[in-house]
Amino acid sequence: MLIVMRDHATSEEIDHVVALLKEAGAEAHLSRGEVKTIIGVIGDREVMYSLELEGLPGVEQVIRVLKPYKLVSRDFQPEDTVVRVGSAAIGGPSFAVIAGPCSVESEEQVLATARAVKAAGATMLRGGAFKPRTSPYAFQGLGVEGLRLLREAADEVGLPFVTEVLDVRDAETVAEYADMLQVGARNMQNFMMLDELGKLRKPILLKRGLSATIEEVLSAAEYVLKGGNRDVVICERGIRTFETYTRNTLDLAAVAALKTLTHLPVIADPSHGTGRRDLVRPMCRAALAAGADGVMVEVHVDPEHARCDGPQSLTPEMFAGLMNDLRPFAALEGRRIGSEG
Ligand code: PEP
Ligand code: MN
Repeated sequence: MLIVMRDHATSEEIDHVVALLKEAGAEAHLSRGEVKTIIGVIGDREVMYSLELEGLPGVEQVIRVLKPYKLVSRDFQPEDTVVRVGSAAIGGPSFAVIAGPCSVESEEQVLATARAVKAAGATMLRGGAFKPRTSPYAFQGLGVEGLRLLREAADEVGLPFVTEVLDVRDAETVAEYADMLQVGARNMQNFMMLDELGKLRKPILLKRGLSATIEEVLSAAEYVLKGGNRDVVICERGIRTFETYTRNTLDLAAVAALKTLTHLPVIADPSHGTGRRDLVRPMCRAALAAGADGVMVEVHVDPEHARCDGPQSLTPEMFAGLMNDLRPFAALEGRRIGSEG
């Protein structure tokens, strides 16, 4: 249920409604716009209706929410959320470019990549320390040592970084090192993990599951917001279809659809979305045109010898070319690739 307060409702009126809801055992989540405050209510429906909230001072309308999510919806918050990650902003006028290796392999590799992507104008660094690999025999990542190397490289070049938290037991450790925590596609419906991340005060990058519907992604994001963490960015990273030429099918219609349904920023990952470096640049342009708030791109100093996802990784030169290519496109969309939002 959403309670829409009248324009410029007083804080006494708002507090009164919130107090009534809490007394009745419900959670009240506030969205304070410039003129309107909307209260998202989570609680027993029957009890809520028996409160007859519509008649209370300052209340304009009580809306029944039939969707399985509400805090992430534009009904709850019409204005775009801008998620700040250190010096970077994702959403609003800022178009974020997150770049770095699939996985951290060595100090030299992550440092060289960090320097290259920073020089080319990336707004954030990425890299995997804990890797979700389909085969248990594939390289699983450097773990905590990888987190340390990422922190070192990120600080040296002055970029915030995002890295995946693969297991809920590592959430606090990853949060100690990273500026933003990624929930990988395979964990999108790990509800215990989403609950835990809701309690953290770190921004979350939530990747769409391999066969998750738009409603399921939004419901996953809802878990994190319900826990109290509103800094969530959704990432379209390609879904499973019958097509095998590309590694996944990058669903840019989902980006456009998500932008209408949620106030949260939405980015695209054309590296995992296509699995092919030659398709990364056109898909970045397409993502921008579809309304994405950023892209995440894999970059490796020596893709041929990468321990993970070499075929989809750009060289630093290719990445610099991509950045030059994207700037005028971003300007056309009224976006700026940069930190200050
Ligand atoms: C990644 O971004 O490194 C990754 C493993 O992505 P996904 O979870 O989308 O497969
Ligand atoms: Mn990868």
